Amino acid sequence: MSMEALPIQNRAEVLDRLKAMGVVGAGGAGFPTHVKEAADCTTVIINGAECEPLLESDKYLLVHDTDRILRALDLVVRMSGAKRGVIAVKGRYGHVVSRLAAAVRAYERLEVFELENYYPAGDEHSLVKEITGVSVPPAGIPIQVGCIVQNVETMRNVHEAVFASLPVTARYLTCGGEVASPSIVRARIGVSFRDVINACGGTALDEYVILVGGPMMGSIVRDPDLPVTKLTSGIIVLPPDHPLVALNTQPAHWVIKQSKTACCQCTMCTELCPRYLLGHNLEPHKIMRQINLGLDIPEEVIKGALLCSECGVCEVVACPMMLSPRLMNRLIKQKLRAAGYKADFSGQPAVSRDMWEYRKVPTSRVLNRLQLSKYDVHPSRVVEDCSSRRVEILLRQHIGAPAEARVRAGDRVKRGDMVGDVPTGAMGARVHASIDGEVIVADTERVIIQAG
Ligand code: SF4
Ligand code: SF4
Repeated sequence: MSMEALPIQNRAEVLDRLKAMGVVGAGGAGFPTHVKEAADCTTVIINGAECEPLLESDKYLLVHDTDRILRALDLVVRMSGAKRGVIAVKGRYGHVVSRLAAAVRAYERLEVFELENYYPAGDEHSLVKEITGVSVPPAGIPIQVGCIVQNVETMRNVHEAVFASLPVTARYLTCGGEVASPSIVRARIGVSFRDVINACGGTALDEYVILVGGPMMGSIVRDPDLPVTKLTSGIIVLPPDHPLVALNTQPAHWVIKQSKTACCQCTMCTELCPRYLLGHNLEPHKIMRQINLGLDIPEEVIKGALLCSECGVCEVVACPMMLSPRLMNRLIKQKLRAAGYKADFSGQPAVSRDMWEYRKVPTSRVLNRLQLSKYDVHPSRVVEDCSSRRVEILLRQHIGAPAEARVRAGDRVKRGDMVGDVPTGAMGARVHASIDGEVIVADTERVIIQAG
């Protein structure tokens, strides 16, 4: 289907195509794109900030796949009735900015927005504030102020779905840390982390852990045979005794005990909290105080934990005692959700605080604090197709209901065949075979395909 054959009145057809091809937000929790793009808006933003240290694949795509990404952005801008399509990238990446600035001239409504080099510049609330001057309501989403934010690779996948009828069967990620050849890797969905690491020359470490995603918001896993999903943005190999591992694997009782012992109520966690600075009613030092002293808990203080984005600024940069308000907030959120508590923040205005402009945390400081500077190598090596003879396609790779397997053990499939569908009446996303082969497992959680 050519772009010319796809006028705006065929929006339903575009959305159907996005659903059929299994496109989900590749940069966050995997919100199905056909649902997000069903809304009208005034501004569509491509989040090219890639603010997590060490990750590089978005910048790679913006330079090497510019035309596909801009063509998809132009489509969704026209489709949603938006006045602006903005690609937000950090100004420090001059080669990315100049490539995009030249390319957007061909499009009437597209523009490039240069971000400062701070963390978390890619947080949706910060991004919308920077670009439109408007604050997203606390606990709200960008569409409430007329914005849709999309990830770089999602836009590439939109292009492939709409203009080439290609489903999502691979994703770009950064593989780095303790590997022989750090690289940008285009990995088939379902290959193992071990496959990706081997494609990057392997590791010399006898024992290692894997940081999946970025260092600030990613997670530590110990099983290299877990599969790549549509959301895997990074595979960073680390020694098991790296400080980041200890930080991310503290048991809950230890986090609470440390906080009770050491929090000096200096307020630095609040002073640097990006969500507090945007005007949200989140004051982590008060939450720490309430937990520590066991006083009666005023609801408005403790429910502020629900506004925490878990960006990690408080624990990595702010706290002089190396405490983690982030993990404390995560614990509170888990408990409140388990109790069925739903907070209503709708009446709360979000007017950024005076110091918002001046308290942005430089990315270099984050890297230094995390002791990751030696891995900040900006890899130029590219693995264009990391595949395997066996892939494990998870049926839950997105927000919403998990897909339901539509194949059985013994079926033969080809790359691109749908192997899991959205349950009737539910919100979700399809998943597709990423290699040709035989289905050897199909249950409620996964489809495993063996080549040959
Ligand atoms: S992790 Fe810390 S700094 Fe980030 S939003 Fe939560 S409380 Fe604020
Ligand atoms: S920065 Fe640390 S010590 Fe200071 S109030 Fe926050 S948690 Fe307590």
